[in-house]
Amino acid sequence: MIRISRRQGCFLIIGLIFLVILSSSVMRTTAVVAGRDSNRAANSSLADVPILNYHKVDNFYHALSVSPQEFEEQMAYLAKNGFTTITPDQLMAYLNHDRELPEKPIIITFDDGYLDNYTNAYPVMKKYGFTATIFLVTNLVGHDERFMTWEQVQTMQQDGFVFGSHTVSHIPLNKLPREQAMAELIDSRKEIEYRLGTKTRYFAYPTGAYNSQVEEMVKQAGYKAAFTIRYGQAGAESNPYALERIPIFRGQHTFRSFFVRLNAAPILERFGLIRN
Ligand SMILES: [Zn+2]
Repeated sequence: MIRISRRQGCFLIIGLIFLVILSSSVMRTTAVVAGRDSNRAANSSLADVPILNYHKVDNFYHALSVSPQEFEEQMAYLAKNGFTTITPDQLMAYLNHDRELPEKPIIITFDDGYLDNYTNAYPVMKKYGFTATIFLVTNLVGHDERFMTWEQVQTMQQDGFVFGSHTVSHIPLNKLPREQAMAELIDSRKEIEYRLGTKTRYFAYPTGAYNSQVEEMVKQAGYKAAFTIRYGQAGAESNPYALERIPIFRGQHTFRSFFVRLNAAPILERFGLIRN
């Protein structure tokens, strides 16, 4: 993951605006040369989708906490700029060329399932007509007062929020023996399916840690896709078991950092600077 400081980010945006104009004309030429029938041309017709990644929305001064005011400001920006939240199902269908997406699609995700997602983020998102995908640590739901209860999860589900797994106990899967890692993946999926009465097909890696063996286990455990904390957007070139996201942190200038991280990703990707 590339970390961008705020100062670098500001220069980046200004400088890259020129590059993006240049690259659009290069992309158009390339598409004509490649021809319509090739896979590459078909894939290049798919737009990349930003997936924001939050953890907490509260007033603690911690990098993973965005304040309710900052969160409101960010959601207002998305609404004002015409973004529409979509679900991971919509994203996967789009990447399989099965369905179209609305203009300016975005996925908003939260990891861990903190209580403030329900008390602080949910009302703001509802106000703007947004939904999110929340990855739950099933041992913590209803068992720890810092995290949501199943009733709260069910209420959000009724409003179109999607719930995925973030394992049973939040241990990075690359640190576990295979059998235990498989249990973390399967038991959490089954618990969420039992509680919510719906299939759970999406997973987020605890601490972002994964490798090819872990990816294979996620697939075997019945998931359709998995989300990392690697900076970037999800697109046709993405590995569905290692989808890029845009982590949002609190800082001295949280909104500016949010703006730069959201808007720099497509430019950096276009130049092959952040996707492997
Ligand atoms: Zn986590």
